[in-house]
Amino acid sequence: MSATLAPYAADESRSRGRRYDELPSMYRGEYQRDRDRITHSTAFRRLVYKTQVFVNHEGDLYRTRLTHSLEVSQVGRTVAVALQLNEALTEAICLAHDLGHTPFGHAGQEILNACMQDYGGFEHNLQSLRVVDELEEKYADFVGLNLMFETREGILKHCSARNARQLGDVGRRFLERKQPSLEGQLSNIADAIAYNNHDVDDGLRAGLLSIEQLCTQPVFETPFSEVRALYPDLEDRRLIYETIRRMIGNVVGDLIEETRRRLKAAAPASIEDVREAGKPLVSMSDAMYDQHVSLKRFLHQHLYNHEKKLAMTRKVQAVIKDLFFAYMEDENRMPPQFAAAASNAEGAARARVVADYIAGMTDRYAITEHESVAG
Ligand code: MG
Repeated sequence: MSATLAPYAADESRSRGRRYDELPSMYRGEYQRDRDRITHSTAFRRLVYKTQVFVNHEGDLYRTRLTHSLEVSQVGRTVAVALQLNEALTEAICLAHDLGHTPFGHAGQEILNACMQDYGGFEHNLQSLRVVDELEEKYADFVGLNLMFETREGILKHCSARNARQLGDVGRRFLERKQPSLEGQLSNIADAIAYNNHDVDDGLRAGLLSIEQLCTQPVFETPFSEVRALYPDLEDRRLIYETIRRMIGNVVGDLIEETRRRLKAAAPASIEDVREAGKPLVSMSDAMYDQHVSLKRFLHQHLYNHEKKLAMTRKVQAVIKDLFFAYMEDENRMPPQFAAAASNAEGAARARVVADYIAGMTDRYAITEHESVAG
């Protein structure tokens, strides 16, 4: 076992391994190798043209799903190193967590799920796993990226019981109510920390949120007042940046300390103990969690459901819906490979080919395709 890893960290020498056996790499660890496969994937490169909150063409400075994923990974790695968890595994999960996301962010995911209602629905976490397990076509010997079990386990953050039953080993924990590795738990929270903070920044930049509104949130107001007292003449952009960097520092520090406390109390001796622990061990303190949830609710109310956002949501949902029904009606509107797969399938399997094709699109590709289908 590596000297830098805690006993409860994921350790490749005790991994459940890959679906298809491969020779070990001479120069890299197995989770490093997973991370590299993820960054070389087609789905990863597409993230740069996929919406996080603001549609890709709304402005050059907003987060995209790629920069979001990098920020998630940055938070995750910091905490992993501080807690002696597996940094490479954490990074791999964080970079892969949104690979299955549709174009147009949550608006896209919601409408594709609605279109797929009679065919088993659409869940973006499950789709991320489908991307790495089946949809990427890179290797001569297998479909997908053939990632380690622990990477796949971490990517599948949530899953309905119905789908879990069809996934074999990686779905079992949802039926048995077990926990994923600490690296998986951490990646999930790193995602929430990243979006809560960068959405404040993007919301202010877009003019959809105001500093006055945000000062109703203690998690923002406390560091904001601190910075203003320290630098009374600071201009707004730097004042906001100094506030948000403190917000991230505060929540990450709290997460590390609270998780240390929980690990000490539960004293897991291995990753198996972590999985059996009954509840997640990676956690913010109750006080910080309340503030975090309060900010999340605030963002839902004032940013994600802002009238300007909703107008865009209606527009992009029509794009996805039109594409879905156009391809269902005539599969030959899709590229030959998808058209062939759809014409060889029926019912839910056929609809799944259409969903895979749409989910893989970037925002602008979906818009261009929509123009050609509608025109
Ligand atoms: Mg995310």
